[in-house]
Amino acid sequence: MRVLLVEDDEPVAESLRRGLKRYGFEVEWVTTGEAALTHEGPYDVVLLDLGLPDTDGLDVCKALRGRGDVPIIVISARSDETDRVVGLELGADDYVSKPFGVREVIARIRAVMRRTQARTPAAGAPATGPDRYGTRLTIDRKAARVRFDGEEVALAPKEYDLLAFLTEEPGALMSREQIMEAVWDANWFGPTKTLDVHVAALRRKLAGAITIEAVRGVGFRLEIAKDETVKGEDSGAS
Ligand code: CA
Repeated sequence: MRVLLVEDDEPVAESLRRGLKRYGFEVEWVTTGEAALTHEGPYDVVLLDLGLPDTDGLDVCKALRGRGDVPIIVISARSDETDRVVGLELGADDYVSKPFGVREVIARIRAVMRRTQARTPAAGAPATGPDRYGTRLTIDRKAARVRFDGEEVALAPKEYDLLAFLTEEPGALMSREQIMEAVWDANWFGPTKTLDVHVAALRRKLAGAITIEAVRGVGFRLEIAKDETVKGEDSGAS
């Protein structure tokens, strides 16, 4: 997935760029509104800072929206509610306030992509329903609720965060460092024993719905359990 990052603050842009790349995104970085509007693309989503040196980010948002329906996520230091409302009215799809973690931005990108994909006529799926994983597990990311065979599963907050992270890309091998950074702290340097404890809890609580394989020396890989009565419905996770 290609991201157009419009951000004049170098440290913010650099860490975002590095973080996004680590998760497999391609990042085109520009620092002005003009560069954003003259960028030829193609890109799949725009991360747009509002405080730009040459133009107001809201004008850039409006201009981009006037051209097409590429998803736009506004990022801003202004936590002002007015900006948020105006941004969304001008056609932004979502909004993140600084400071934010890379993981939060990625979650927003994925959510926005899911919504915009559901908007296209071919996809009939409801835009905001829970995500299905196989036949037994659903995760309602908006409400942070997990159901297993229809029953709500009580998860500790970090257990939920870990599950939400690992299910973003079932089958992908995630390193301990990636997981620690995404779920616990952006600057984690230390023992990762707590990760094993949380993995064990998820395995126990969701046995039969998912498996979490430990890959020695690397990290973990979550897989959705195969059900005998496969209904041919994919989770649609991208
Ligand atoms: Ca700025």
